[in-house]
Amino acid sequence: MSLECIVCSSTQCTLLIKQGGYDIFRCRRCRLIFAHPLPDAGQLGAFYQNFGHNREEADCPDEQRLIVEGAMREKIRLAREIAVSPIKTFLDIGAGCGYYLHGAKKAGLDVTGVELDASAVMFAREHLGLEIKEGGFLEAALEDNYFDFVHLRNSIEHFTDPGECLLKINHIMKKGGVLILETPNSQSPEHLVRRLFLDAVKTLRRNMPGRAAWWYWKTALMRPWAYVDPPRHLYGFNKHNIDLLLATYGFKSYDIMAKPLGDPVYHPVSPGAQRQRDAEMRAAEARLFSSSRLRYCLYVFGWKPVAFILQKIIARAGMGNNLVVYAVKEKTVARKCAAPTEELITGRRQDMSTSETKSALIQCTA
Ligand SMILES: [Zn+2]
Repeated sequence: MSLECIVCSSTQCTLLIKQGGYDIFRCRRCRLIFAHPLPDAGQLGAFYQNFGHNREEADCPDEQRLIVEGAMREKIRLAREIAVSPIKTFLDIGAGCGYYLHGAKKAGLDVTGVELDASAVMFAREHLGLEIKEGGFLEAALEDNYFDFVHLRNSIEHFTDPGECLLKINHIMKKGGVLILETPNSQSPEHLVRRLFLDAVKTLRRNMPGRAAWWYWKTALMRPWAYVDPPRHLYGFNKHNIDLLLATYGFKSYDIMAKPLGDPVYHPVSPGAQRQRDAEMRAAEARLFSSSRLRYCLYVFGWKPVAFILQKIIARAGMGNNLVVYAVKEKTVARKCAAPTEELITGRRQDMSTSETKSALIQCTA
């Protein structure tokens, strides 16, 4: 069996683990993490029918919607700084319930959204007066060379072929337009602090702290690819390989950041989900407190400040959980450009090892 990395075309891949009927591999050359085999259309359809993320979002209080809209305004401001021409037309891919779209509309942009989830599309129509195109982005009828600004937030890792997605974005965007791409950072240690936090509390409630610590360590070690969990996330990118992938589809990265969870602009809230987690956390804390004062003290005065400090250090080091790329469309490409050479890959890796990078990119050799 020969596997080929979708970013660098290397066939040298390491099997990390078998998980739920999928193999999770890491490319030895560019460090892309990916699932194999990829789920088929039937598996994906069944999975997303019960995804529920948008139903939670639709249920959020108004103040959180305003936070999301504020985050959108900040993104528009930054995009305007780097765009070659004025930003007037906006596309949100995976628009959900339409909050980002609504923010962009309020800022005066001509907005278009695409969303798979029919209930989210209906919510946006009824509550926000937005007409979102229902269905997949690859199937959506969109005009070529039309958009000045495209928002691809936490979506690319869900596509079975991210390259196909970027190729379509390349075609529908104007030259010099801005793409904001956000995706989990496969090289961030932040999930060890935040993602497993609730699980750690639950375990602490059931077990002695020593055992909880062992369990936590074991889980953390077993999940270095925490964000690749097919059929949901199929790819795990880092600063270096997302930069290469964008370059092979005609985009030039202007800025690549790794923002921490809770960042006011890039991780404002996933409103319903956040509330659900907060409620679970409070319930877990309450049970912990009722069952043992000692354990509660260990948690509040031990783990909680440690987690807080660790998260601050990770954020400072530019290794946060969310990769945010501001990229400019440099040219229209008919297909994927030539795979990057070894020098480019090594060069980019060294560049990207510095925390936040204003990149002078790779020339795509179409
Ligand atoms: Zn690779």
